[in-house]
Amino acid sequence: MLFSYSIHLLFLYQLFLFLENFIGKNMFLERTRKGEHKTGWIEVIAGSMFSGKTEELIRRLRRAEFAKQKVEIFKPSIDVRYSEEDVVSHNANAIRSTPVSSSSNILLLATDVDVVGIDEAQFFDNGIVDVCTTLANNGIRVIVAGLDMDFLGRPFGPMPALFAIAEEVTKVHAICTHCGELAQYSYRKSQNKGVVLLGEKDIYEPLCRKCYNEAIENDKNNQE
Ligand SMILES: [Zn+2]
Repeated sequence: MLFSYSIHLLFLYQLFLFLENFIGKNMFLERTRKGEHKTGWIEVIAGSMFSGKTEELIRRLRRAEFAKQKVEIFKPSIDVRYSEEDVVSHNANAIRSTPVSSSSNILLLATDVDVVGIDEAQFFDNGIVDVCTTLANNGIRVIVAGLDMDFLGRPFGPMPALFAIAEEVTKVHAICTHCGELAQYSYRKSQNKGVVLLGEKDIYEPLCRKCYNEAIENDKNNQE
């Protein structure tokens, strides 16, 4: 009797360890502000095209709204793919935002807010780094989403610096359209090789490291 009871306890303990491990590794949990010690911080959500960056940004912003926090969202005015005013992800899950032409406009517009969301941060000027720091120093939670690499696999614009100054960095992944592994590259199928080419599934394809390198190699061979 005592023996089966202790087996039972052991099972429950192991279940607890498993759940704790699972939740700790797989879920982003908001920091909470305790008491009067109100402090800001910076979160970065980065990944390739179709990795769900904007969905994750919208999820966190909606949760802040549920918590009755004041939220402002900005994006560079260069990104006018779907709608001037909304942060729109590929699955059409939209949230209202303000397009700004320069990062310095964010400081002017983000007054009396608890949370600032910034989408497509890779297209901002380098001033965005100081802007995020100033906002966080002023007690604001800053959530930044953007592409970590351009279509040539190079670190994109101010993203590396934003990684460096953030308290939290979340890398999200797409699924490789060739093999089904996790994808981290945004391979460009189009021959137009200017860096800023906004687009959809007809231009970009998420690929894993192996398939990306194979595709680049194929492109080289086809050009020769
Ligand atoms: Zn692959």
